[in-house]
Amino acid sequence: MMTIFQKILDREIPADIVYEDDMVCAFRDIQPQAPVHILVIPKKPIVKIGDMDEEDRNLVGHLMHRATRIAADENLTDYRLVINNGEGAGQSVFHLHLHILGGRPFAWPPG
Ligand code: 5GP
Repeated sequence: MMTIFQKILDREIPADIVYEDDMVCAFRDIQPQAPVHILVIPKKPIVKIGDMDEEDRNLVGHLMHRATRIAADENLTDYRLVINNGEGAGQSVFHLHLHILGGRPFAWPPG
């Protein structure tokens, strides 16, 4: 199924893209939950993190590593990285994405 994130990758709908390479793309969330809220997605359409294959280990490692660099570029020292896996965990777009949230304090445990 074609997701909204695939349409962003294909430039069918606009997004505020902050980083892109051959494996991943990062853009600002349309409904930010913090002063900085960026989504990092693999170009490969993995539906959710639980579906990653053995062969995706480098890709997911790269996704994580890029997220830390993007956070640094946004001048964040404290931030939260979130992946919601499945509807019950809050996933609403079924193309793997890592949330980078920063710029405000966060509570624990999350809601
Ligand atoms: P999830 O709930 O699946 O973990 O996160 C999906 C995120 O995608 C939400 O934070 C939502 O605001 C964001 N989102 C949904 N549609 C769009 C869109 O068209 N553009 C952008 N930039 N973000 C979107």
